[in-house]
Amino acid sequence: MNTIAHRIDLVKARILNAERASGRAEGSVSLLAVSKTRPPAEIAALHACGQRAFGESYVPEAVEKMAHLAGLPIEWHFIGPLQANKTRSVAAHFDWVHSVGRLKIARRLSEQRPEELGPLNICLQVNISGEATKSGALPDEAADLAAEIAALPRLRLRGLMAIPAPADAPAAKRAPLRALCELQARLTAGGLQLDTLSMGMSDDLEEAIAEGSTMVRIGIALFGPRAAR
Ligand SMILES: *Cc1c(COP(=O)(O)O)cnc(C)c1O
Repeated sequence: MNTIAHRIDLVKARILNAERASGRAEGSVSLLAVSKTRPPAEIAALHACGQRAFGESYVPEAVEKMAHLAGLPIEWHFIGPLQANKTRSVAAHFDWVHSVGRLKIARRLSEQRPEELGPLNICLQVNISGEATKSGALPDEAADLAAEIAALPRLRLRGLMAIPAPADAPAAKRAPLRALCELQARLTAGGLQLDTLSMGMSDDLEEAIAEGSTMVRIGIALFGPRAAR
């Protein structure tokens, strides 16, 4: 078995085990393959294993790969830092954006989303660990911002996303994941219809699923270590 086919089997087994261990329904967590820095051939190889959703962090790199892979039915997710001068390209090329943390960016995406494409799926990124250097809305701002994004015509708000601060101890890993899930529950109780909780990466996948993730974003565990960019 080739390496990529073997790795996706291992990742799927981890997801299934975590769903079972936490009493979640099998298949309730979807896999986003994070293919930043990876060549089109590796994406095609994973696609041949049945993977359809891929996440990219750098707009020019992603658009170039999309051109190479134009024949494949891929669902493209943008997960990287998003500056105002890149929103037009993201709105035209992607199906989802997980990294929306400011209303200005959301408004531009809505205005620039081409009519023929249907609404752009959005996750509101929350700076759940309150790190000074991290992008994303602060937890206190999230409810107002989510309501404003949900009202934009060309966007569909699907839920929250976070990249917690790195931690080693299981309890320290779980605290921010739990906080994001609780925040999403408060937004849902307030009347927003949300179906996606985007959290969990290669080294906190199990903790994220235990805390309610519905979409894990996995790079290294599928593709191996990334070279420094
Ligand atoms: C790179 C990246 C991931 C994947 O992380 P791995 O450790 O490679 O699994 C997930 N989410 C975001 C936002 C990323 O930038």
